[in-house]
Amino acid sequence: MIIVLKAGATPEEIESVVGRIRQAGLEPQVLRGTERTVVAALGDERLLQSVPLATLAGVEEALPILAPYKLASREFKHDDTTISLGNLVIGGKKIVLMAGPCSVETQDRLISIAESVKAAGATILRGGAFKPRTSPHAFQGLGEEGLEYLSEARRKTGLPVITEIMDPRDLPLIMAHADIIQIGARNMQNFRLLSEVGAQREKPVMLKRGLSATLKEFLLSAEYILAAGNTQVMLCERGVRTFETETRNTLDLSAVPVLRKLSHLPIIVDPSHAVGKSCFVAPMAKAAVAAGADGIMIEVHSHPQEAYCDGDQAVLPADFTRLVGQMRRIAQAVDREI
Ligand code: PEP
Ligand code: MN
Repeated sequence: MIIVLKAGATPEEIESVVGRIRQAGLEPQVLRGTERTVVAALGDERLLQSVPLATLAGVEEALPILAPYKLASREFKHDDTTISLGNLVIGGKKIVLMAGPCSVETQDRLISIAESVKAAGATILRGGAFKPRTSPHAFQGLGEEGLEYLSEARRKTGLPVITEIMDPRDLPLIMAHADIIQIGARNMQNFRLLSEVGAQREKPVMLKRGLSATLKEFLLSAEYILAAGNTQVMLCERGVRTFETETRNTLDLSAVPVLRKLSHLPIIVDPSHAVGKSCFVAPMAKAAVAAGADGIMIEVHSHPQEAYCDGDQAVLPADFTRLVGQMRRIAQAVDREI
């Protein structure tokens, strides 16, 4: 249920709505918009049946939210969510570019890749220190050492960093180094992890779509983070499993307009993990800009053949530079900027 307050509703009127929701045994969440305030009542809506919310002072209307995800839905929040990170805004007119290696390798290599993606126009550095590998025998990431390298790369380049969390026990450590916390495709339905990451409200979270998750499941996972209190959530389409074997996954680009319709959260597209081969990354990155993505995440490596993981899909810095120029022109054509 959402309770839409009148434009001039007083703080006392808002408080009284919040109190009645709590009294009924539901959890109120207040969203203060530029024009009006909306209160969501989260929980079993049957408990509200005998509460005359619509007739309380200051209330314009009380509406059921039909989507199973509430806080993530456009019904709850009409305007696009924007996330501020220093001078960077995610979800605004400007498309953000996240680029960097799949995993953090050596300090020098990370810094040199960070410098080249920055020069090309990237606004966020990516790099995994905790890697979700299919095989337990594969390189698992440098862990804390990798996080320290990311911090050093931020110090040297000024680029904020995004890195993946796999275990809630690593949260304090990751919080100390990351500017955005990534939850990977394999953990999209790790509900305890989602709630723990959502309970910290300081750092934005990028949630990747699960390997074979429907968009409804994807949004319900985002709902876990939102329901735990963190409103700075972005969604990342990174390809889903299909019968096709020529590409690693199949990039579901229609997810962009569909998520845009269903949700107010910023949408990022990662063509690298979708296609799995460097030669297909650029066309899909450009298509993602045309489709309306708010951000693009691309794996870039100066020596892909030496990469500790995902070398096949890493693009070279020079190719990334050319791609940014092309994406910039496409962005302009769809009234965006890079
Ligand atoms: C990654 O971004 O490094 C990653 C592992 O991606 P995904 O979770 O989409 O597979
Ligand atoms: Mn990767």
